Amino acid sequence: MEKDYIFYIEYGAKRMTVELIYSTGTGLFQEVLARPWLFLICILALTALLTGVTALLSREWLQLRHKKWMLSLHDLYEQAMDRTTDAVLILDGRGTILSWNRASEELLGYSKEEMLQQPSARLVPGDRRLIQNALDRCRQEMLLPLKARHKDGRSINLLLTLQPHNHFYTATLRFDEFKPVTVETTWHGDKDVLTGLPNRTAFLAYLEEQTAIKTFAFSVSFLSIDSFPRLAEALGRKPSERLLLDMTDRLQTVLPKGAFLARWSDCVFALILPDEDVALAGIWEQLRQKLKQPFSVNGLQLFAPLSIGTCFYPQDGKNAEMLLQHAYVAKRQAKQIKDTSVSYFDASMMSQIERMFQLEADLPMALSKQELELHYQPQVNLADRSIVSAEALLRWNHPELGLISPLEFIPIAEETETIVPIGWWVIEEALREFHQLKANDTPLQQIAVNVSLIQLERPDFAERLELLLHRYQVNAACLEIELTESIMQESSRLTGVLEKLQEIGVTIALDDFGTGYSSLSRLYSLPLDRLKIDKSFIDDIAVSPSALNVVHTVVYLAEQTGLDVVAEGVETIEQVHMLKELNCLIYQGYYFARPLAADALKGTLRNYQIPKDVPIGAGM
Ligand code: C2E
Ligand code: MG
Ligand code: MG
Repeated sequence: MEKDYIFYIEYGAKRMTVELIYSTGTGLFQEVLARPWLFLICILALTALLTGVTALLSREWLQLRHKKWMLSLHDLYEQAMDRTTDAVLILDGRGTILSWNRASEELLGYSKEEMLQQPSARLVPGDRRLIQNALDRCRQEMLLPLKARHKDGRSINLLLTLQPHNHFYTATLRFDEFKPVTVETTWHGDKDVLTGLPNRTAFLAYLEEQTAIKTFAFSVSFLSIDSFPRLAEALGRKPSERLLLDMTDRLQTVLPKGAFLARWSDCVFALILPDEDVALAGIWEQLRQKLKQPFSVNGLQLFAPLSIGTCFYPQDGKNAEMLLQHAYVAKRQAKQIKDTSVSYFDASMMSQIERMFQLEADLPMALSKQELELHYQPQVNLADRSIVSAEALLRWNHPELGLISPLEFIPIAEETETIVPIGWWVIEEALREFHQLKANDTPLQQIAVNVSLIQLERPDFAERLELLLHRYQVNAACLEIELTESIMQESSRLTGVLEKLQEIGVTIALDDFGTGYSSLSRLYSLPLDRLKIDKSFIDDIAVSPSALNVVHTVVYLAEQTGLDVVAEGVETIEQVHMLKELNCLIYQGYYFARPLAADALKGTLRNYQIPKDVPIGAGM
């Protein structure tokens, strides 16, 4: 007879089923079954065997799982540690470094490979027991100031926060505080040889440290002496170095203790200041006052205004690169104003600066591509209502951006010194045009050109001008050179060239008079022929008694000193009447004519009939 036996073997939660099939007529199994004690032994042996195998398998399995789990946990932990912006280390009870994250790497320059399993004493070579002593005492969170050594050799003041856990400690490192390094006292890093200030490398390192702290707001500024390259060329090395040293002194006298001032490049200083809005505005104001005094160099009295661009950490940039770029953009903006001026970065400046860079790149080719053109704005004499002169005004027809105002591209041309070839082109073109007009017997007595200071102070300016006058057979007295008031700041240096021009016989007008730096004494000392009263006074002449007073005074002053006056930007009949009353008899402005292309000017001159009364709408 055949019979099925089914056995259940239980191991832990697992139940195994062993089915034994035997047939009554067969050998060994029948024998075992016939002896119950043998049967029991077999069952026990089988159970032990299965238990052992199962235990072995599940231990291996658990170990594998555990290993995998630990690996992924470790990965996660590493990633998390590397992403934290704080420098965090884990130390065991003996101070051995068990974990070193990326922020620690950035802070102290050592990689994980270099620091893992190393004694934490390596961080503070000056006091190797410092951290160990702290660990021995550490029962709860404690702070430990220390002087750590960066891999590059710098020593850095850090604050270590120790946190005890069961068998290990976490240690967070951060800069001790906003530790301003004042130039004259504590700085021992890379120095600029001339001024003794920290140099560009030192400034960068310091800025990077400050952005790493993340808790303190501060400002980053560039302060540029824009006129310095020209001054240096004209004065020579020693005197220009003297000027830089004087400038450094003036800066240091207005800067507070927390300031970090560095020499960024030849004529640019870089500055970090703890962020206090009011204090910053006060500092700039003091600086402005200081720079109103001329620098005395080689017996010359020179002015050196600064263009200051400022941005703030963290709102304008979270890292050094961003902050430097934004401070630079703001500085470029400030540069457009000729006097010492401050510009604070704002996001809209980025598109302006991109345009500026495009213009800067395209400008050198504008001449050869014939994109430049001169327009001419007539000047009228109210005494006899004749057109007496015309001012040549530059226009740039940019192939993509359209017509660009000279107010926008002249400063760029000045910065890149493209203004010199452009300026010569303007003079030559104006003389060529004037020569033609004269050949056609026009009543125009003079042509005026605007000349940039950068071109004027080239040593060969007067000679080249004479050559051109000769080439186009234009009498020197028929050419007027318009200079902006900023020449007053450089008057002592420019007297020579101005006197030379006077000798040649060209006339000199001071443009935009009233907006800048003119002092009466300097006005008297320069060989000028004419003052052009700035449009801003003319705008208000009919509505503001003080504007009227200014114009009145300028006219009086001009009469006393034998200068002519011209009113700029006259737009209304009321203004014309007022000017006539004030005896300011020559004017230019939209009221009579806008700047005209050469052909339109010729047409206007040809058709102009002297009106009985004040001139009305001759050109447009
Ligand atoms: P500027 O020499 O003072 O020229 C007068 C400016 O006032 C011109 O602007 C002219 O178009 C404008 N204007 C004249 N009358 C009126 C008026 O009634 N109303 C108004 N709203 N504006 C009037 P523009 O042509 O844009 O030139 C601006 C400045 O660019 C010039 O001021 C001059 O400083 C500079 N510039 C122009 N051409 C040259 C050049 O060839 N060389 C140099 N270095 N600078 C130039
Ligand atoms: Mg002008
Ligand atoms: Mg002007």
